[in-house]
Amino acid sequence: MNTRSLKFQLSVWYASLLTAGLALLGIITYVALERSLTGALKENQFRRARQVSQLLSELLDKRNANAAGPEIEARYAPGLNDRFVRVSRRDGAVIYLSPRHESQTFSPAAIGPPAWADKAESARVVPLEGGRKMMLAGHVLQTANGESYLVESGAPMDTVQSDLRHWLFFLGIMLPTIAALGLAGGYLLVKRALLPVDKIAATAERISSHTLSERLPVPQNGDEIERLTTALNHMIDRLDAAFQHSRRFVADASHELRTPLTTLRGELETLLRDPRSPREWREQLGSPLEEVERLAQIVEGLFAISRLDAGEAAAEWVPFDLAQLAISTADQMALLAEDKQIHVTCTGSIGVWVQGDRARMRQVVVNLLDNAIKYTPPGGSVTLTVRAQDAKAVLEVADTGMGIPSHALPKVFERFFRVDKARSRDEGGAGLGLAIVKSICTAHEGRVEANSKPGYGSQFRVELPLVPAAPKSQTLVSKNEH
Ligand code: ADP
Repeated sequence: MNTRSLKFQLSVWYASLLTAGLALLGIITYVALERSLTGALKENQFRRARQVSQLLSELLDKRNANAAGPEIEARYAPGLNDRFVRVSRRDGAVIYLSPRHESQTFSPAAIGPPAWADKAESARVVPLEGGRKMMLAGHVLQTANGESYLVESGAPMDTVQSDLRHWLFFLGIMLPTIAALGLAGGYLLVKRALLPVDKIAATAERISSHTLSERLPVPQNGDEIERLTTALNHMIDRLDAAFQHSRRFVADASHELRTPLTTLRGELETLLRDPRSPREWREQLGSPLEEVERLAQIVEGLFAISRLDAGEAAAEWVPFDLAQLAISTADQMALLAEDKQIHVTCTGSIGVWVQGDRARMRQVVVNLLDNAIKYTPPGGSVTLTVRAQDAKAVLEVADTGMGIPSHALPKVFERFFRVDKARSRDEGGAGLGLAIVKSICTAHEGRVEANSKPGYGSQFRVELPLVPAAPKSQTLVSKNEH
């Protein structure tokens, strides 16, 4: 689980706040419960002490203090009720101490000495054996002849302690349970709330400069995500318009340049061939004609890319055998390889069917082979392979040439990119060949990638969707040319 995700963090915050709130509530309830239970017990003991004190006062009035013990026993029977009563005089004499009954849970004689307080009534908690406690309330009786008696009444706090323990146990069980439920519930709630974000992210991943007509799904619930997606869609609208504008500009510019360049080339060629032109003229016209041809090639390349990028429907969109197309194209380029004494090997499984525009796909093979021959020194070799692999048609062109430095590898498919500007220009390249290859592959829902080891050679791999209904590939052909 990603602990930095919004889902996780929101759920943890939610569960923590819920648990902290409940823990606070639990503590407050514990304190209130403790006060209420001990308060009630204390009040009971005060009442009993006052009653005993009243009884003692009546007996003292009748000068019959000796009857205090039997009277208290008869009326209140403290031992039987697991209670404690003690009457003591200021001089320390104990007039009465409740006797220990067999059912009693504590020993009255073990309770500490009487504690005289300044006030007429005071209460305290005294320890009993085994960690238990007793609530002891004292009432001072002041007689008319100046004598004072302390009447103490006490009861073990077992019920209070066990009630508080039960409450703590309940809290100990409930808090982790509520924290776990809060975490799980919070996670599910946040996950549901963020579900549209996953869909938006998946769509945004798909949108590229070629699919700018797509829009993000807008959840119609008036929340922040709806506002965000609407704003992003407006941004894509503007990007789409800007892209279309720039594509139209390149297409228009290259279209406009084609005609004057063709005219210029035609006129230069006529002048060059015309026997009436002076010889010096004809000698000097070769170089401008070459430049015009180069310009015309660039313009053609740009025009092709802008049409492909604009997604213009190809004239011909049919299923065809990529292996056959590759082999026949390599055949046509045999002369070029022969000139440079380059050994071209072609291997392919006949019947690797793809769908698309044959002429444009031929252009891919031509550009890749042309580069491989161009950038491989004489005596080197070029291998062209076509095969079906993992539901894909794969075309590979590998050479034993100079290779491409790793820093340049990611850029070779960019327009006008050339590794060595001076050398490429001598060879006649404008840096558009691989950009055209990439545009054609993208238009065919395929991809192209380059690998290279400088000094050892390069490998270009084109992957296209295989046509499922195509005949099975079986025959292996191999062809060598010099
Ligand atoms: P160019 O028309 O200049 O050949 P490309 O777009 O076809 O333009 O190629 C871009 C650059 O990539 C070339 O200038 C060249 O430096 C490099 N390149 C392409 N193919 C190869 C190859 N097979 N071996 C070495 N370098 C290559």
